[in-house]
Amino acid sequence: MAEAKVRYKRILVKLSGEALMGGTDYGIDPAVIKRIALEIQELTALGVQVAVVIGGGNIFRGAGLARAGMDRVTGDHMGMLATVMNCLAMQDALESIGSYARVMSAIRINEVCEEYIRRRAIRHLEKGRVVLFAAGTGNPFFTTDTAASLRAIEIGAELLVKATKVNGIYSADPMKDPKAVRYPRLTFDRVLDERLNVMDATAIVMCRDNQLPLQVYNLTNAGDLLRIVRGEDIGITPWDKSAIQAVEKTIYKSDLGLTPNTAGAVIRVPLPPLTEERRRDITKVVRGDAEAARVSVRNVRRDVLQDVKEALKEKMISQDEEKKAQEEIQKLTDKHVAEIDAALAVKEKEIMQV
Ligand code: UDP
Repeated sequence: MAEAKVRYKRILVKLSGEALMGGTDYGIDPAVIKRIALEIQELTALGVQVAVVIGGGNIFRGAGLARAGMDRVTGDHMGMLATVMNCLAMQDALESIGSYARVMSAIRINEVCEEYIRRRAIRHLEKGRVVLFAAGTGNPFFTTDTAASLRAIEIGAELLVKATKVNGIYSADPMKDPKAVRYPRLTFDRVLDERLNVMDATAIVMCRDNQLPLQVYNLTNAGDLLRIVRGEDIGITPWDKSAIQAVEKTIYKSDLGLTPNTAGAVIRVPLPPLTEERRRDITKVVRGDAEAARVSVRNVRRDVLQDVKEALKEKMISQDEEKKAQEEIQKLTDKHVAEIDAALAVKEKEIMQV
């Protein structure tokens, strides 16, 4: 087996059906599917066992068909069959480049592909074959996201990788909202609480309850899948390309001890190992930010107190009113400082948590 170091030995990649469309708005773009097949082949060449779940959204989705008046369960059956078609196309693409692949369907269609049998799936993986899990969970009212987390847990995958059009989890859709921020790391509970649109809630709960790590990556960034299995950071792709330099500079000047390096449109930020010492360093940075926030609250207090004093001098308010205003200002100051302290405490805990 190749010597290159990999962090994960067995992974499951979730591709949405839409990922296969490329520039078209329906069906499969053979060029896109071939490119993905080549990326998967790179992983198996390193000895990584790769399972794949493909969605069917590029052909049919049960919910969409139901909205158009069709029976939901029938629509879901059609959606699941759509995933079989996508998996067959991927199997073909993999075989055309000399890889071995097996489609295993949750719905029996034995003339077309194998049925899903867990032990057999694991055996295929051990033999270096790419296993393509088709037909979702085999049940209506589920999604292929849930199928991905379910199968990943069943086969003992060490990582679930979800391919999307963006390179991580954002506070909002970065394609629509330029203010969306990328979260470098998140707990599953936070994804659920903030309803971040990563995978459906069932899939997230399954990952959480079974300690299955999830990583989101940008399918259009060639080589990112390989970087993920090698445990490298996959970098940041600013939505606004003209902001690349500014983003790079800000990371550099952030006091976090990070040195970004940029290749084309992707900024890579090699992260030093998160040792106890480094956690303490990051805590210091956060404490500094909290102190800066307290100072700015106090500056506002000072300015407003000055205004009140002047108002008294110019007899615009009485002494009683001055006193009342001072108390009110102090109350507001205390409230905001307390909020800063609480946010700091949460952050410190998060940083120090191993
Ligand atoms: N589906 C289902 N049960 C499953 C997985 C999928 O009924 O366990 C159906 C459902 O109708 C879904 C469609 O198959 O809309 C295609 O899957 P999905 O929407 O997850 O595809 P993606 O959005 O990933 O392309």
